[in-house]
Amino acid sequence: MKNSKNYQFLLNDLTYLKGVGNKTRDLLKKKQINTIFDLLWRLPRSYTDRTQKKKISELQIGTETTINVIVKKYNFPRIRNLPNKVTCEDDTGQIDCVFFNSKEGYIRKILPINQKVTISGKVKYFKTKYQIINPTYISEDSNFIQKIHLKYNLTEGISEKVYNKIINQILLNLPEIPEWLDDKLLNKFDNLSWRQSIILLHDPNNIKNFNKNFYQRLAFDEILASFLISSEIRKKIKKIKKKNKIFKELNSKKIIKNLDFKLTNDQKESLNQINKDLSSKEKMFRLLQGDVGSGKTIVSLLAAANAVESGYQVAIMAPTEILANQHYQLGKKVFKRLIDIDILSSKAPGSKKKNVIEKIQNNKTKIIFGTHALFQKKINYNNLGFIVIDEQHKFGVKQRKALSDKGGKNCDILLMSATPIPRTLIMSIYGDMDVSIIKEKPLNRKEVLTYSKPINKINEIIKFVEKEIKNDNQIFWVCPLIEESKKIDHESAVKKYKELIKLFPNNVAIIHSGIDKEEKQKILKDFLNKKYRILVSTTIIEVGIDFPNANIIIIENANKFGLSQLHQLRGRVGRGNKKSYCILLFKSNLSVNARKRINILKSTTDGFKIADADMKLRGFGDILGFKQSGIKNFKLADPVQNEDLFILAEKEIARIEKDEKNIDKYRTLLKLYDQVDIINDIS
Ligand code: ADP
Ligand code: MG
Repeated sequence: MKNSKNYQFLLNDLTYLKGVGNKTRDLLKKKQINTIFDLLWRLPRSYTDRTQKKKISELQIGTETTINVIVKKYNFPRIRNLPNKVTCEDDTGQIDCVFFNSKEGYIRKILPINQKVTISGKVKYFKTKYQIINPTYISEDSNFIQKIHLKYNLTEGISEKVYNKIINQILLNLPEIPEWLDDKLLNKFDNLSWRQSIILLHDPNNIKNFNKNFYQRLAFDEILASFLISSEIRKKIKKIKKKNKIFKELNSKKIIKNLDFKLTNDQKESLNQINKDLSSKEKMFRLLQGDVGSGKTIVSLLAAANAVESGYQVAIMAPTEILANQHYQLGKKVFKRLIDIDILSSKAPGSKKKNVIEKIQNNKTKIIFGTHALFQKKINYNNLGFIVIDEQHKFGVKQRKALSDKGGKNCDILLMSATPIPRTLIMSIYGDMDVSIIKEKPLNRKEVLTYSKPINKINEIIKFVEKEIKNDNQIFWVCPLIEESKKIDHESAVKKYKELIKLFPNNVAIIHSGIDKEEKQKILKDFLNKKYRILVSTTIIEVGIDFPNANIIIIENANKFGLSQLHQLRGRVGRGNKKSYCILLFKSNLSVNARKRINILKSTTDGFKIADADMKLRGFGDILGFKQSGIKNFKLADPVQNEDLFILAEKEIARIEKDEKNIDKYRTLLKLYDQVDIINDIS
């Protein structure tokens, strides 16, 4: 194999390497290691120094040692369970190599009598003699052994020896790739090239050296690549030219006048940004981010009114029927007779559904509400120009790109998400979209009072609940989520339900993962209509549904939840104008960390701050919903540890975006770091 100058070497299949056959390749594939490049990010976790050569008289028991000896005598007992032994010596003494499970013929081959050999392994002492049991290395060539041998988290079936051989081979052939970083940036990383950095990364002296220049450079490359990909997608979507929508905000202004509340400044600002997108010649691909209860729906409805005024139809898609219905009800209230709206419900009788679809087809219905059923093949929109998608924060970049293709090129897209994310992650997660953020809460919103209580004070809580029920209020009772077992999960909820129904006959309902979808929707609806006072549940209370009459949420084993999750749960209450409470129950002995988290939650209701704190306490992978989102985990970069690098990369992207030509420099970076179809699409 020639020393490669081309990065293509890194994208080769693993079998390109000497000593890697189909078997090793398949083992590594199971660990998502498909190319030579992927292998670079498996870092050594420690190493064994085999450079130290010792005389037998100097040996230390229990240490890994390398010795040069001459093979002297065989002892093959030929009795079951007794090991084969080979006595070796140097000019200071003797040592036995002891072999369990090695055949005589093999031993004679690797250790011929009177041959000089180098042996490496852990030294033991037995009766009167030093011994090495099953030596790790034996070779006639001492240079082969006298090295530092890196230890990796081994893949089952691949030995340390093979691993070292593969990695050494890669490092020896590592191409010097034309630099993609700008001079000024490169300077920040002491001008270390990508290749030099990789070599340092695998240097045994640098194990766990996360703050060094080489590590930072490689982490930065990774962040930059991820941002660049998003930025490229964004630019690509922006290039799609559409017919600009023309409107005078006649209806939306009328509606705003008739609302029984005033829009917050953030709502106004977001609406302006959306209107601008609608009236521009570029396709809108925007995210409206706002904490639970920040009032995203009305913003989307006002924008929808404008799209209708300009002659288009609008589809508003919610993740569940009940949520779609809630949006529809709000729509009926605000649009009155101004705009024809309708809902496509899977539960409606066939004839009704047919009628709804017909009215969509012949442009009678201007705004249609529903679930993903809105995008079935059999529905032909007459003139669809705007799609609103609510609560789809679990979409990854690729899924979103597919969405942006929906409805054709004249169709603007608005996504709404209630998952606040830490600042450093906005670019990684939503870099492909324009983002509007609603930070302000509506003025009339009462803060939810948050308390924490040990479970042994449950009687106080019950009394409190009694009083609130008398005052015509409703309560969510959330039971511990035990991730490993859905069964235990709903058992604990069922147990709580049985306890509560004794205390509050006819007034308690339960939903958990074991209940089917239809039944669940019915229970939620009944609860919404005040048929029950207490709703016991696991965490599956629908995100986004407005229960204006529920003013208390009680969360058991609160320390089991992530902060963002608790925050979202808390957001279920405090929608109306009643005094609201969130009560966190836990066993009395909380860890310091758990106490810290509970205190953050008590001290702020700002979802963005909470998301930030949550990430700092628990790391990036655990933040609400992101595991399912399909955003890849970084290999080296850590949004908490490397916050500065994320900010730096954001600035760099802004610089790169200024000039079309700039991107050429980064082609190799993109090809290396993200070998997905999206890239092929772009180049
Ligand atoms: P989310 O952003 O979580 O989707 P919603 O759009 O469901 O929030 O709004 C929550 C509630 O707040 C709704 O009942 C809505 O009518 C109300 N609301 C929206 N904007 C305002 C405002 N500016 N002032 C008062 N109430 C508002
Ligand atoms: Mg909502």
